[in-house]
Amino acid sequence: MDVRKLREDFPLLSKGIIYLDSAATSLKPRQVVEAMREYYEDYTENVHRGLSRLARRATEEYEGAREQVAKLIGARPEDLAFTPGTTASINMVAQGLSWKEGDVVVATLMEHHSNLLPWMRLGELRGVRLKLVGIDEEGRLDLRSLEEALGPRTRLLAISHASNVTGVVNDVRRAARAAHDAGALVLVDGAQSVPHMPVDVEALGADFVAFSAHKMLGPTGIGALYVSERARAELAPGWLGGGIVREVSVDGYRLLDFPYSMEPGTPNIAGAIGFGAAARYLRGIGMESVLEHERSMVRLALRELEGIEGLRILGPRSGDRLGIFSLELKGLGPDELAARLDEEFGIVVRSGYHCAQPLHERLGSRGTARASLYLYNTEEEVRALADALRRISRELRGSIALI
Ligand code: PMP
Repeated sequence: MDVRKLREDFPLLSKGIIYLDSAATSLKPRQVVEAMREYYEDYTENVHRGLSRLARRATEEYEGAREQVAKLIGARPEDLAFTPGTTASINMVAQGLSWKEGDVVVATLMEHHSNLLPWMRLGELRGVRLKLVGIDEEGRLDLRSLEEALGPRTRLLAISHASNVTGVVNDVRRAARAAHDAGALVLVDGAQSVPHMPVDVEALGADFVAFSAHKMLGPTGIGALYVSERARAELAPGWLGGGIVREVSVDGYRLLDFPYSMEPGTPNIAGAIGFGAAARYLRGIGMESVLEHERSMVRLALRELEGIEGLRILGPRSGDRLGIFSLELKGLGPDELAARLDEEFGIVVRSGYHCAQPLHERLGSRGTARASLYLYNTEEEVRALADALRRISRELRGSIALI
């Protein structure tokens, strides 16, 4: 993988910034923008309905995009519905399964709010109980507790594949096996894993995998929900409307099969086509190479950040973790730290709880500045971050010493 070369595909990288906020949203290569431009300028039409050449091309490109995205996760196109994103995909599962009072959802303390609130709401509306499995001081999941939390009433295990705060990668395969043994379905929040590592849904043993295009070089407003064949019969669409029916009479309707049954109304056609171009781009590089690059950046970042006085990195120093570094610097709040990195050093990071407040609280943190890496980041950029933090830290210690 030639990082120098691929950086040329990302116009924002030539504008004098160091972009370390890909866990929030990634940059988009020209190829993605171009694919969307082509749809809007050369063959705008609705999909699945018309017989015109334009409509046929739009449908072909839309379905081709589904194929590209499905291939990236080892799925077939018929296993994958386009959705507005990870949050929407998870809510579609929460609303689309039938629940009984007393059903249990097991989730973990490291979940993003998008994989927590929909289950909390089920408690309010349907009497479903949410059990949260704990994590250790470094943010690692306690798999034994997870296995103990699963029981005969467990209807669903909802688990993130990778944390958007600590970068920890969970052993989802093992967790899924235990959940299936308990008779539960398994939903994997793949928002952070699918963009950064090879993911094979069959090998994971997931029933549902949710992810977003915008974190993997694609546009905003589009994502996907993979549904296993076994789980498909249990999932009903939460929204109904045009485009998802075989036939309708005054007495009722008959729905199309998944995934079309989950895509009512005119879909985000340009978004899907951009998503397909992003998946094609990533497949062209190869997810093994993407992960290998990330791992070498992680090793460098941990070495560089280690030893900066007053700096705390949430998450583990070793083991399976991605390039996400949530940082606290003694003497400076996360918002101020992020603002200084931006204004003084041109380094873009994010500050706050990153939609994972229970996780921050468990780790004794009141918010962090988060630097996150992707395939276009370089060793120099990682060093620039460390240098900037070192300078701010020294300055803070100097001013503290003066007082
Ligand atoms: N889960 C995780 C782990 C995430 O990082 C995010 C995005 N921050 C989401 C869910 C929600 O994704 P989206 O905002 O694209 O729906």
